Formats: sequence, C-alpha cells, structure tokens
Amino acid sequence: MTAQAEKQQYSFQAEISQLLQLLSHSLYQNREITIRELVSNASDALDKFRYVSLTSGQKQDADDLKITIDPDKESKVLNIRDNGVGMTREELVNNLGTIARSGSLEFLKKAQKAGDKDKAADLSLIGQFGVGFYSAFMLADRVEVVTRSYTEETGWRWESTGDGNYTISEVTEPVERGTSIRLHLKDGLDEFTEPVRLKYILRKYSTFVPHSIYLEAEHINNQPPIWVEPKNTVTEEQYLNFFEYLTHYPGQKPLWHLHLSADSPFQFYSILYCPDANLEKMGFGRSDHGLHLCAKRILVQNDNRDLLPDYLRFLRGIVDSADLPLNVSREALQDNTVFRKMQKVITKKVLDHLDSFSEENKESYLKFYKEFGSTLREGITADFDNRDRLAKLLRFGSTHSIGTSELISLPDYCSRLQEGQEQIYYACGTDPDAVLRDPNLEVFRSRNLEVLILTDPADEFILSHLREFDKKDIVSVDSADLHLPPKAEDASKSEEEKAEAEKAAQNVPENFDTVLRLIKEALGDQVQEVRRSERLTESACCLVNAQGSMSTTLQKVLRMNTPDFEMQKMILELNPNAELVQRLSSLASNESNYRFIQDCGQQLHANAMVMAGLAPNGNEMAARLQSFMLELASAKK
Ligand code: ADP
Ligand code: MG
Repeated sequence: MTAQAEKQQYSFQAEISQLLQLLSHSLYQNREITIRELVSNASDALDKFRYVSLTSGQKQDADDLKITIDPDKESKVLNIRDNGVGMTREELVNNLGTIARSGSLEFLKKAQKAGDKDKAADLSLIGQFGVGFYSAFMLADRVEVVTRSYTEETGWRWESTGDGNYTISEVTEPVERGTSIRLHLKDGLDEFTEPVRLKYILRKYSTFVPHSIYLEAEHINNQPPIWVEPKNTVTEEQYLNFFEYLTHYPGQKPLWHLHLSADSPFQFYSILYCPDANLEKMGFGRSDHGLHLCAKRILVQNDNRDLLPDYLRFLRGIVDSADLPLNVSREALQDNTVFRKMQKVITKKVLDHLDSFSEENKESYLKFYKEFGSTLREGITADFDNRDRLAKLLRFGSTHSIGTSELISLPDYCSRLQEGQEQIYYACGTDPDAVLRDPNLEVFRSRNLEVLILTDPADEFILSHLREFDKKDIVSVDSADLHLPPKAEDASKSEEEKAEAEKAAQNVPENFDTVLRLIKEALGDQVQEVRRSERLTESACCLVNAQGSMSTTLQKVLRMNTPDFEMQKMILELNPNAELVQRLSSLASNESNYRFIQDCGQQLHANAMVMAGLAPNGNEMAARLQSFMLELASAKK
C-alpha cells in the first residue's frame, strides 16, 4: 500500500455537521427526494463531461453517457452510478466536505422552523441551495462514493457515516470514469431496493433528466422532452412535473407558464414558469437561478442568467435552440448575435404574456404582482426600451380603492381623469392610513380627484424615474409643481375672475399677510417660504416641497442611508379658513401679540413636520408646549 492508499480522516466543515444533524433529526418523511438529488448530481456530472469533450481539444469519448441505478436487496445497498466527470481527491474534499454557498444552512434552518405545522416540509428545498448530496444521509447510515476523474487514472473512495468526519483513500483496483454513490440503507428502508418503488420514484422526479437512466438494464426515461412538443399535446400534469424537475420543489404550483416556439428569424423552443412564491422576499437574498439553456436538446448551461433581463430573474425554465453554438464558452455565448437577439424576443414574449394576463385575468395578475411586482418594477429604471410597456404593468393603491385589496394601473387611473386634469397625483407614507391623514390630500378629497397611494419608497422612486405616463406628468401631492384641473363652475370665467372667486371663497382674513410675515421671521432658515395655501380645506397648515425638489419620502430614505444628508428646505402653507389661523390674524392687529403668534407659528411648523413623518426638535417643542399650558392654566380659576 502506498501512503496515499491509506485512509485519511477529515472533518466536515462545521456548517455541514450541523446540516447533517438537521437531516438526521428531521421528521421529514419524503425520502424520495434523495434519489432525485443524487440522480440530478449524476446528470450534472454527465453534462460537465459532455461540455469538456466538446470544448477541449483532447478527444474525449462522450457517447453512451448514462446513469445506472442498481439496487441490491441482499446487502441493502442502493448504487447510483454515472460515467460523468468524476472527482479528484481534492474535488472530493471541496465538493463533499464544504458548503459552497454561504447562507444555505441558515436558510434551511429558517425554512424548517417556519414550516412547523407541517414539520420541516421545506427541507424539500435542499436541492435549491447547493447541498442536495447530503440528503443521502436521510436514506443511508453509511455512504460510499467511489469515483475517478476524467483527468486522471487514480480512483478514490470517500466514506462517511454522517457524523462529523469522513475518510478518503485511494482505490487500488482499476476504476471506471465517473462516480458511484453507494447508499448503505438505514434499517426499515428496504423499500429503496424494490425495483417497482424505484421505478415509480424515477418516473416521478427524473423523467426529464436529459440522459438515459437505467434501472436494472431497463431504460426508464425514454420519452421526448415536452418543450419540443406542440403545446396542445402537453398535459397540465406534464407541465407540473417538468416544473418540479427544474425547481427541485415538489408540491409547488407555478402561478403561470408560457410555452413558446419560433422558427424565424431563428429557431427556439422554450417553457418558462413563474413560481408561486418569491424566495427573495422570504429573505434568501437575490435569486441566482437562471434558465436551462440547451442547443438541440443538449444542455449548454444550467443556470443562464443572461437570457432574461434581471427584472425577470424570478422565472424558471428552459430555452432550447438549434441556432446556438454548442462548443463555445459561457463568456463567448453572451457576445453571440443570435443569443442577444433571442434575449430580446423572449423578453418581448414575456411582456406580451403579462399584458394579456393582466387584462384577461385581473385577480391572478394581482396575486402575481403582489409577489413579484417588487422585482418586475426594477425594469422601469433598467430597461429603457420596454419602459412604457412595463409602466402599464405596475399596480398601486389609490384613494379610489380604499378599503379593498385592489391595486390599480396607470391606464385605470387615466381612464378616470377629470376634465382638464393634466397630472397624475400620488401621495406616500408608511401605510395607507398615514397617507390618508396627510393634510395635502384635503383638496383632492374635496374635489374627488384620484390620488395613488404609495406605501413603499421604492414605488415612489420608480414613479419619479418614470416622470410621466401617457403624456401626463406624475407629481407628488406635496409638490410645488402641482396643478389642479380648473373647477367645473370656473370653466367659463377669465383668469382674473377666477382669482377673485377663489379669494372670496377662501375668505382671507385681514392681517393674514402679517401672520405669514411674522411666522417666516420666526422660522428663519428652517423653511423656504411661508405662504397662503390653496390645497387645504380643513387643516391649519402643511409642508410642501419646493419646485423641482425631491419628495419628502425620498429625502427621508436618503437621510437614513447618509446621516449627513441635509433635507431640502420646504414651504409652510397656512390655511386662511382655519379657525386658528383666523384667530391669529385678528390678534395680529396688536403688536404685543406678535411674540405669541410667532410661538404658535413655530408649533404649527413642528406639527406639520410630524404629519409629514419628519422629526421636529423635541426639546424645543416640549418647552413651548409647556409654556402654552402654563398660559392656559393661569387663565383658569
Ligand atoms: P449542487 O449539486 O447544488 O452543487 P450537491 O450537494 O448536490 O450540490 O453536490 C455538491 C457537489 O458535489 C456538486 O456541485 C459536484 O461538484 C459534486 N458532485 C456531487 N455528485 C457528483 C457526481 N455524481 N459526479 C461528480 N461530482 C459530483
Ligand atoms: Mg445537486
């Protein structure tokens, strides 16, 4: 025996030991997924070998790539073998001893806790997080891996009982290229040596594996792939099975799927699925799944992230084209003209689909939007060519759908514009109730003008980026750029007459201008201007943003992220009709009241800040309120 042939012991990376514990203590019953994961690894190894043989100068014989499943009833061993790339000693250590993707374990733990009612149901996600191999220990109490890499003549045996350690030793006999996974089945799991049972499992999960699978010499998966079949011959069940195969996620139903085929200007087939849940929203971070890319049924890449724009990254599926070159590197593929044109066509088809989906099936579209809208809307800033189409797909809350879960589209909004309305209005806040309390909304309410309600700052960012829709400017209700449509009864009047009428209606008190001046003096640099409001009907005051300035919500977001960001100066508006303002105006005839009016002005400003979700100076405010109270208290008997 050489030194190498001796067994060497290694410890699993800490995360793997924890994962193995999790698996062995899990009540998770669906052990079938182990077979799916190991067959999927075998298939990956075959794909890699074919890729090597096509791209390397060396002639590698890639005929007869296959997966063989051999159950042995006597010794209770299930052997899953492939003649793919195999692994060197170093690869064994790296691939079967460490977790490639950080965060996988955390997520699985979380998924397990979350799924309490259905104990650990979400361990079925295991294959999605780059740790599928370890599911072997759900079936076996000892796992042996015998493997030989296509790059060398030496074979290696990896062995573990799923505790903290594994061993690697050299195999002295000749080993065929590829990998054998030998599962020494746990007590009571003899069913996994029953050919009938195995056949059922393989048909269920592995029909779409693009390599031949043999169970005791029987070819299990010899049906043609569904994506090259005409749509009307594919059953709903087949679509579902294929989705499961792609996502390794049994029992999940896609929200919708799209089966495409085209012959010119180039030929391709594709099936795209929209999952029913957005994993990004569940906290697993940015999705890094892609599409399976095939050239004439042969897998070229299994997670291509360039065929679809980023904002459609939640879609899963396959694209198969006869016009793609098989033997180019991934990098070269992105420069390929056909590839780039295909991107455009597929994106367009997806948007076409969303268009008709959103019109024909409003309710399901809303469900889709609530799940994936936050990703889809990124396209507004990222995909200039499709911006108008994407804008139609956005959905928002609205003052016209208060109290319902309904969201409306910009075209919906535009279909309800009032006579002469040239702008699309929106208001932002942390939740709909907070938005509705915004005094800036009063005039809209009194004139029954529709306002979009945004409760996610990202929506506001998207709208401020979009700027206009259907030639209508999109403006915030607290913006100085606001123009309201003329009132119907004013339509026949001249500009002057209108101004007169307005003033009369507002009943501006005497000395109101003095009040404005005094308050501006008191506030100094804290505001840009103090002026008469035309948008308030009930409240005494509100803050609005100066012309061309950023909206309050955006400024708040910026301030949160950059502490030394200075908020832009706002305009304080006073409502001359409000009782308090009228009272202050009459006090303004007497100079000895100036000080009091200015204190009130400070407090009105602080109030307006609170209502806009901004934080006024708490110390000053408390001191001021206390002196008001003292004054009131002194007046009492
Ligand atoms: P994933 O398949 O998502 O990478 P797994 O835990 O299933 O995660 O497998 C880990 C790694 O082990 C694989 O990426 C691959 O490098 C290696 N591996 C597993 N099975 C095989 C096999 N049959 N042949 C070659 N390599 C394999
Ligand atoms: Mg795997």
